[in-house]
Amino acid sequence: MRIILLGPPGSGKGTQGDLIEGKYGFPRISSGDLLRDSVQRGTPLGRKAEAFMNRGELVEDEVVVDMIRERIGEDDCRSGFILDGFPRTVPQAERLPDIDPGRDEIVLDIRVADRSIIERLSARRICSGCGSIYNLRGASAPASGTCPACGGGLIQRDDDKPEVVQRRLQVYHTQTAPLEEYYRSKNVYHEIEGTGPIHEVFVRIEAVLERSIPGSRLKEEIKAD
Ligand code: ADP
Ligand code: ZN
Repeated sequence: MRIILLGPPGSGKGTQGDLIEGKYGFPRISSGDLLRDSVQRGTPLGRKAEAFMNRGELVEDEVVVDMIRERIGEDDCRSGFILDGFPRTVPQAERLPDIDPGRDEIVLDIRVADRSIIERLSARRICSGCGSIYNLRGASAPASGTCPACGGGLIQRDDDKPEVVQRRLQVYHTQTAPLEEYYRSKNVYHEIEGTGPIHEVFVRIEAVLERSIPGSRLKEEIKAD
């Protein structure tokens, strides 16, 4: 099973992806995390990607496709995986069946209005120690300015600065939103209302996955007998 998370920046793909990983056991693969890691390590890939990312633009399709191809070739992806942030353009989506042939796929599009996105991202902070994500305005906002899990300092991602957020949203609407039509026509598309508490959004996702993942369908059929 290949679970694809769509949705604008800050819609909660990472958070929900982790919850899906925890419940169903598929690893979550975040193209943004892979790219940021390459930038930090100063690899050739990272050097190609950095300028695009700091402007809120997309990294070139070929570069990202190669990176994802390599990651999903690893052992832990054999029975399935969760894609967070990829594909992000129609050409990327068209390459996916080539680099990962013969796999069932399900697309969850987490919908959140632009004005909530801007609010969320301006309040998003990341722990420089363990990578945990916090919302300064959320119910579980860390009071101290340090990470409750590890004590690390909380920092704002460069591309969460307001000017860059606007650009990322614009890029999302022009380049990523067309994926809705692409996946609707393949009958694998599901819209998920992304506002509300994290666990409520996850309940909506579970409802779709229980219907779509072969193992869970089997369980339901047995119960119905
Ligand atoms: P968000 O979804 O919150 O915008 P990500 O961490 O997914 O953030 O991505 C950060 C940046 O990494 C993007 O703005 C873009 O520059 C780059 N990026 C991530 N995934 C892709 C992709 N599939 N194709 C091109 N660029 C990507
Ligand atoms: Zn931490």
